[in-house]
Amino acid sequence: MITAAVTGGIGSGKSTVSRRLAELGAVVSDSDQLARQVVAPGTPGLAAVAERFGAGVLTADGALDRAALAAIVFGDPAARRDLEAITHPLVRRAFRAVRDGAAPGAVVVNDIPILTALAVAASFHLVIGVTVDDDRRVARLIDRGMTEADARARIAAQIGDAQRRPLCDVWLDNNGVLDALVRQVDRVWSERLVPFAAAVGDDAA
Ligand code: ATP
Repeated sequence: MITAAVTGGIGSGKSTVSRRLAELGAVVSDSDQLARQVVAPGTPGLAAVAERFGAGVLTADGALDRAALAAIVFGDPAARRDLEAITHPLVRRAFRAVRDGAAPGAVVVNDIPILTALAVAASFHLVIGVTVDDDRRVARLIDRGMTEADARARIAAQIGDAQRRPLCDVWLDNNGVLDALVRQVDRVWSERLVPFAAAVGDDAA
């Protein structure tokens, strides 16, 4: 089995890369989805979040009130760190469960948008970064229904490619047409993933 992470800024093409890897046969898990799963109603993760931040972060029916939690952690780095200290180990454990459930010889891919999650990048066999110039990225985000101001604010709030790139083993350029990205992914699949999937041990993540 081999594990890979796909990372990149908002709108860079991570989902497109992950989708192609899934088409090629990878087992793909999405960090956003895992992050929601670990604080679903009735989970120990949600209980820990409520204990730290108070019952105000719960809705009347016991689910996480994301807006209330976001309002608390926005602009409060200590609160954000506390939240991440609760959720990140749970997300990592959930990813390990996906990995451990995969067949021997599988390629297991995790989509990880944020640097804090990249702190665990060393535990992936291959970290795939995807990049696109800001203006093109903004245009794609606008196509997806975002305002230009919102797109630029979100890009500014994230780490930049200069910080991300040194953490990546493979760097995909998504400034071209979709097909050009797909061809790069196909090459990573056949040259960097498949040949090692059967050989690599189970010691990652
Ligand atoms: P997010 O961080 O918001 O989850 P992402 O990094 O997963 O985004 P995608 O969803 O893959 O990025 O791509 C962003 C948008 O740009 C999508 O609407 C996608 O269809 C489009 N897109 C991606 N690559 C290209 C391309 N090469 N040409 C044109 N459109 C593209």
